[in-house]
Amino acid sequence: MAEAAEEEEEDFMSDKFIERILVSESADRRKSSQRSYTQIRKAKEAKQRVAERASSQKHQDQERQRQISLSTAIDESNKGFQLLAKMGYRKGEGLGKSPDASITEPIKVDIKANREGLGLSTLKREREKELVELGVQASKRLHHDFESTQRQRFAEQQLARDLHKSRRCCEQLDLDSGIEHSDYWIAQSSGDRDDDDTAAEHVPSPFEQLEPAEQLRIVTRHLREQHRYCIWCGIKFGDEGDMAQNCPGDCRAVHDDT
Ligand SMILES: [Zn+2]
Repeated sequence: MAEAAEEEEEDFMSDKFIERILVSESADRRKSSQRSYTQIRKAKEAKQRVAERASSQKHQDQERQRQISLSTAIDESNKGFQLLAKMGYRKGEGLGKSPDASITEPIKVDIKANREGLGLSTLKREREKELVELGVQASKRLHHDFESTQRQRFAEQQLARDLHKSRRCCEQLDLDSGIEHSDYWIAQSSGDRDDDDTAAEHVPSPFEQLEPAEQLRIVTRHLREQHRYCIWCGIKFGDEGDMAQNCPGDCRAVHDDT
């Protein structure tokens, strides 16, 4: 069954078949004007199939030749080989510092014969997608960095304000209660300075060399313990019990929450 079909196809595509069709066609033309359109169509189809088969055969031959070339060791008549031979190369040896360890056989190459599959447009699209994704990530990172920098800057400014305020309050309350000098006070630069004073260099006290957050913790503790004053409540409490009852705590965070 399959054989019969194959034979039929073989006959149908053979040159003889086409010739026969063409001859009978021209004979028909001479004899009469009655031509079979079916015959013409069949002849055309047959011719096309022969051409396709020839093209396919040519393609297969090219592919076979290429595979042979890629998997065959370099020929001695090859100019490159001759050049290497002059430099002391012998057939079968590898190139490089240690010939034993080098490659002696041709490297297998996989060549994609057709232009289908991963098209250029697909690759381009994927690359564009990657770039967009990278851009989005970079932008998010930048935004995050910016926000955290802003938050940090705001916290630093707030800390500086709290420290300044507590040192001012400290000076005022200390003076009120007879204390005449403290490192916690803001350095007396404005009051003591003379116009022609060249020795106005302010030497930071050990207290001022501490981190601002630590300075704030120390001064606010002093204000609370010595004066029962809370800079965030802005109140000088009557006594310890009053303060314990009415002030939420000894830092800004607990005052912000209430
Ligand atoms: Zn308070």
